[in-house]
Amino acid sequence: MKKIQMVDLQSQYYKIKADVDNAVLNVIDSAAFINGPEVKSFQAELEQYLDVKHVIPCANGTDALQIALMALDLQEGDEVITADFTFVATVEVVHLLKLKSVLVDVDYDTFTIDIDKLKAAITPKTKVIIPVHIFGQCANMEEILKVAKEHNLYVIEDSAQAIGSDIIFADGTTKKSGTMGILGTTSFFPSKNLGCYGDGGAIFTNDDELAHKIRGIVNHGMYERYYHDEVGVNSRLDSLQATILRKKLPLLDGYNDARRKAADYYDEAFAGNPNILTPKRAKYSTHVFHQYTLRILNGKRNELQKFLTEKEVPAMIYYPVALRKQKAYFQESNDADFVNTDKLLEQVISLPMHTELDEEQLKYITDSVLEFMNK
Ligand SMILES: *Cc1c(COP(=O)(O)O)cnc(C)c1O
Repeated sequence: MKKIQMVDLQSQYYKIKADVDNAVLNVIDSAAFINGPEVKSFQAELEQYLDVKHVIPCANGTDALQIALMALDLQEGDEVITADFTFVATVEVVHLLKLKSVLVDVDYDTFTIDIDKLKAAITPKTKVIIPVHIFGQCANMEEILKVAKEHNLYVIEDSAQAIGSDIIFADGTTKKSGTMGILGTTSFFPSKNLGCYGDGGAIFTNDDELAHKIRGIVNHGMYERYYHDEVGVNSRLDSLQATILRKKLPLLDGYNDARRKAADYYDEAFAGNPNILTPKRAKYSTHVFHQYTLRILNGKRNELQKFLTEKEVPAMIYYPVALRKQKAYFQESNDADFVNTDKLLEQVISLPMHTELDEEQLKYITDSVLEFMNK
């Protein structure tokens, strides 16, 4: 059996090696390393795939979030609501910009921001909601958009873990995740669903004015050469990464299908076990399984992880600590308001999830989990 990895980027690369190698060499030969034609082509192709008016590539998914916030007319101390159970990047940029993060509990089944608690967290200082589409499961955008409209708030979708997923509205229409908020962001970190071979990210919007502003912000706030109208940053996707992403974008739907197939196998294997809750797939979206995350109900999650390590099955705890309890972002809170987050911190374990898992590996992984859980 092939060694089991959390993410197997090498096997995925080998399937497209000739094509990618050739593209990379062509970029080097062209010497158009920065803002070259490959970046512009990738941008246009992603706009078409997502059915969004503007894609602005940048250096990584964290920058994408920061730049999105910079583009809005926010003041020091304005409040930004996001989930307590997520990767740190979201709150990091809020603090860097001297805005105030307001952390909210998540829904136990989807791991995404809880709508009632989101509503309860809104104050006159609230300006932005950042829903995070976590582990490939989208937040409930139809509800969030309603709340935002009612209270006149901006929505920035963090789609770093969910590119390619569809939101299905009650009237049957669908939209790609990241394209419904005033702004959306993603990351092309290698292990993400659409990963490059280094760092990369992008911002999405249908708003022409914001798109123009952001194209300046990513380039030192410069709209005319050496005239700086905004305080900006230097945040670019380089041509080598863009050419790799151009090879991988047409494969994204197939990659997401492969992840769903592995998830189907896991779901079926664990269906009968009373101490394992498999991830929910919300009716209002497609799931793209950036992670496959179980909830272990018998209190033995850590022992399970240890057992799996002995069996050479990698498994990770995403995430072990709530953001509100992290040293850098510590805030006084009433734990009773965070029951779901706190339960999840104790229960979650993510199994290997990528595009290259074969049936032999999946059987070994599920047999190993069940061997421990049925002991
Ligand atoms: C990966 C990730 C980011 C940051 O992306 P980078 O490219 O690593 O900076 C932001 N938000 C979420 C939810 C992520 O998973």
